[in-house]
Order: sequence, then C-alpha cells, then structure tokens
Amino acid sequence: MLGGMYWSAGRRQRPQVRVTRALLFRILGYFRPYLGEVSAALFTVAVIAAIGLVPPLLVRAVVDLALPEKDLGLLAVLAVGMVGAPILSGLLGVGQNYLNTRISQRVMFDLRTHLYRHVQSLSLRFFTSVKTGEIMSRLNNDVSGISRVLGETLTQTVAQAFMLLTTLILVFSLDWRLATLSVAMAPIFLAPTRRVGNIRYDLQKETQEKHADLTAIMQETLNISGYILMKSFGRERYEAGRFTEKNRELMAVQVRSSLLGRWFRMLLQVFEALGPALIYLYGGYLVITGGMTLGSVIAFVTLLGRLYGPIGQLANVQIEVMGSLALFHRIFEYLDTEPEIKDLPTAVNLGSTTGRIVFSDVSFEYVPGIRVLDHVSFAAQPGELVALVGPSGAGKTTVTYLIPRFYDVTEGSIEIDGHDLRTVTVSSLHEQIGIVTQETYLFNATVRENLRYANLDATDSAIEEACRLARLEEVVSRMPDGYDTLVGERGYRLSGGEKQRVAIARVLLKDPRVLILDEATSSLDSQTEAQIQEALRPLLTGRTTFAIAHRLSTVLAADKILVLDRGHIVEAGTHAELIANGGLYAELYEIQFKPQSVGDRPLSALEAVAQ
Ligand code: ADP
Repeated sequence: MLGGMYWSAGRRQRPQVRVTRALLFRILGYFRPYLGEVSAALFTVAVIAAIGLVPPLLVRAVVDLALPEKDLGLLAVLAVGMVGAPILSGLLGVGQNYLNTRISQRVMFDLRTHLYRHVQSLSLRFFTSVKTGEIMSRLNNDVSGISRVLGETLTQTVAQAFMLLTTLILVFSLDWRLATLSVAMAPIFLAPTRRVGNIRYDLQKETQEKHADLTAIMQETLNISGYILMKSFGRERYEAGRFTEKNRELMAVQVRSSLLGRWFRMLLQVFEALGPALIYLYGGYLVITGGMTLGSVIAFVTLLGRLYGPIGQLANVQIEVMGSLALFHRIFEYLDTEPEIKDLPTAVNLGSTTGRIVFSDVSFEYVPGIRVLDHVSFAAQPGELVALVGPSGAGKTTVTYLIPRFYDVTEGSIEIDGHDLRTVTVSSLHEQIGIVTQETYLFNATVRENLRYANLDATDSAIEEACRLARLEEVVSRMPDGYDTLVGERGYRLSGGEKQRVAIARVLLKDPRVLILDEATSSLDSQTEAQIQEALRPLLTGRTTFAIAHRLSTVLAADKILVLDRGHIVEAGTHAELIANGGLYAELYEIQFKPQSVGDRPLSALEAVAQ
C-alpha cells in the first residue's frame, strides 16, 4: 500500500503533476454542489469586463462628437457615464467577490472536513510512517493554498480572459490597423514577462525551501530534548553556525527576489511608454492622413492597458495553475490512501463478549520479510490476567497492537469469542477493548471532560464513582476547581501517578471486557505505587487483561505469564512454575522484578492475593 507514496522521504520538492483529465474532473467535482454560485460569479465577471470597455468609448465620444459639435448636454451625459461605469462595475465587483469567497470557502470547508475524516480512518502504520508536521501542513497550508488559488487565481484568470476577449473584439471593430499593431507588439512584452514569471516561481520555491530549512533547525534545537542534547555536547556554536548559514542563504534569495521585481517593473515602465508612443505615432499618422478620428486614437491608448494587463497575467497563468494542481495533488494523495484496516462488507457487529481471546499461529511483519512475531499461539480465558514479559524488542507491544486490530496479522488468526477479528466491525471490536498506555494522554480540557471522553453519556455520579475506584477522588478534591479544573498543557499539572489513575478511571467508565495495560517503566515511590495497585484492582476484575508487565505485583497476580523473546513465546506459565523452570523468566525476574531488598515495602493487596 505504501509503495509509490511520497511521504516516507522528507520530501520538499513539489511533485511533477501530470495534468490529466481525471485530475481536472476530480477538482471540478468539488465545485458541482455550488454550480449556481459558480455560474452567477462567471456571469458577473463577464458583465464587469464589458462595463470596463465603456469609459474609453465615452472618451472617444467626447473627442469625436461632443467637442466638435460643442454639445454641452452630451458632454455632461458622457461625464456622468464616466463616473457611473466604474461605480456600477465596483458594485458588481463586491458581489462577485462575495460569491467567490463563498464558493472558495465552501470548497475548502468540504475538502478539509473530508481530509480530516479520511486521515482519521487511516491505520496506525500511516501515522508511524509520516511526520506529524507533514499531515498538519497538508491539512492547513495546502488546503488554504487551494482556497487562495480558487479565490484569486481562478477568478482572476477568468476575469482577465474575459477582459482580453472583449477588448480584442472592441479594438478590432474600432480599427483593424491599430488593432493589428497593438497585438503585434504583444510578443515583445510577453517574452520577458514569461521569463520573469518562471524565475520568480523558482525563487519563490527556493525561498520556501530555505524557510523550511531554518524552521527545521529551530524545531530541532529549540525544544527541551534538543536543547539538552545541544548543551550537553557543547554544540551551540555549531548549531548557530548552521543557522547563520541557512539564514544567509535565505537573505540572498530574498534580495534576488526583490531585485527581480524591480527589474521587471522597469521593463513594464518602458513598455508602458513604448505602447502608447507607437499608437500615437501610427494613429496620429492615420488621423493626419484622414483615415481615422482623434477620439479613436485616444480610446485605443486607453484600451491598451486592458489588452496588455491580461496578456501579462495570462502568460504566467500556467505556472500558477501548475502550482495549484500540485496542491490538489498532495491532498488527493492522502485521500487516495486506502485505510489498511477496514470493515469487510460481511462484517458483523460483535455485540457483548466474554473476552476470550485466542492467538492461533500468529505471525506478524511490520516491514515485509522481517518477522516480529513468529507462530505465536495462546489462549486467554475470560477474566484472566495475562502478563507479557520479555526483553525489549521481543514483540510485547506488537501483541497488544494486534488485539484491537491496529494492524492485521500477517499469518494465522486472532479470535475473540470465536470470531476472527477480521470478520467483525472495527468499531464493535473497539467497544470491547480498553487501553491504558505508559504515557497517559490527556486533552487540554477539564478533568470531567477528559474522563467523559470514555463514555459521552456518563453521568456525573458515574464519573465520581470511577474516580473513587481509581483512588482519584482525593486528588480531584484538592484541585482548585475540582472536576472542572483544566488539566493538560496549560492547566493543573498532574504527576505521573495521578495521570495513570486518570487513565484508569477513564477505562473504568468505558467498562470494556478486554483490557490492555502497558505498565509504566518509570519507578514510582512506594506510596504512589501502592495507590496505583489499589486503582488497578477494580480495573482488572472481570476483564481479560493483557499487561506488558513491569511490576512484580502484576507478574505475581497473573494467571498466565507469556515470556516472549525475539517474536517467539519461549515460556508460559505462572510465576511459580516459571521460576521453577529456571529459564529466561527466572533470569528476567532476577534483574527486573525481584525487589532489591526483601521487606523493602509492605506487600500490596494484589501481591498478598497472589501468594
Ligand atoms: P517490545 O514491546 O517487546 O519492546 P515491540 O513489539 O515494540 O517490542 O517491537 C518488536 C520489534 O518490532 C522490534 O524489533 C521493533 O524494532 C520492531 N518494530 C516495532 N514497531 C515497528 C514499526 N512501526 N515498524 C517496523 N518495525 C517495528
């Protein structure tokens, strides 16, 4: 699935987009719901373009009609018209802008919602292979980029095209000789414009890249871990040097951009002088020889801007369009990523379960060819506590990922109450499973909101009961606003042990049949440890639990200990049996679980039960 995807490499270059009919139709598809608005906007653009032709014609009428005939009345009417036309087109412009914004914002709204929902449905593998920044960038920058393109480039292009077309029709109907001269001059102007457009595009890309480089250095070194690393290896000067280097490159590009803009403006100025000069020269000759009226020449000069303005803009439209297609392409790339884990059409609702989980000959590979689990088989009976132990990298976490189907097995099968996991709906499977990880993740919200995340319908009394069971009541009562205290980033700071108990309370509220518990490796003081044991007791009862065990109490209480080593179950049994075996478990026990000095602390309730 991931083959041919771009995101795995730190890609900065925009992809070369092939403009296909399918791509264009797909983009147009997003506009289909707003066809009415789109038509209205296009119609307004056409009317504005047509109104723009009126003032030059009025000038011609002043010079050719009102002045020679000394017609003051006509002069007044024409003058009013000169003011009226811009007012009218200005008003229409407001309306058109309103329509544009509505369309582009709605398309962006749809696209963003669609993208968020889709990315949400993707599998864990996607998130482990993409940088978070990359996802954010596509959701934010690319979608906003598209809105800009839709709101400005697209309408501008259509407006310019209308303007060019109407002006061409008018100039040719006024006088074909001057019209031909005007059009013939266009290439002189066009060639440098295109060239400048290309260089400017490259410079813009370069600027973006330099900015990204700078941001990367800042992100890497100006955060807690990066800062500590930099300080501890005394690399401040090295990093400052790297930063200065990139900063200097950015400065150079900016200077070049600015100079280019200036050169281009100079060129335009020359041309702005050259165009009218030639029209006056040739047009004046035609007036002198009697082939043309003075008013027409003046009208022509005025119309010249309406001719070259759009030509200049349209000359570079291809670059803009390619840029925006690239944005769409990047978004479609995500939308086209098939969720790896999804319901089969025949998937059934799991309903309530007893929580019997059976692994049959399960093998698993994250990367094809590299086995992380190899023919793993075991059964967990309802309500059993299964402890997973083994050296780091043995595959314990992987086992716990396979139960909620964060990944599908490569070979073999996993069953819950006799149903292969792949034959039931993912959501009904998740309803049966609760997960408590090492690092408790809390949203930046109140205690109550964080807990209610587990069960949106939970009553306040249910929340309080869960807190009581999780030994959290007292902690909450000490908080400034009780259950309404903001925890997380900018709120009340919870200690590691308290956070774990919030996680426990959260799962208690969900009340799943199967529990996955990844015990924190960090050692806690004995009092906190004891509180967590107490909190865990109601959590473990009545559920099939898979615990990645780091505490003695857990292995002692386990109905079954599975000892994993390099993807194999090398031993299985109770603590007493495995110690008697004198194998890997006995070794691990010595280094990992055995209390440093017996009698260090009183036995916890669970340990007492186990003995
Ligand atoms: P444990 O939890 O026992 O420490 P894990 O289940 O986390 O072990 O990892 C088992 C093996 O799988 C390790 O060799 C690890 O490097 C590899 N592994 C874990 N996650 C990934 C991943 N996303 N992609 C590739 N390999 C992975």
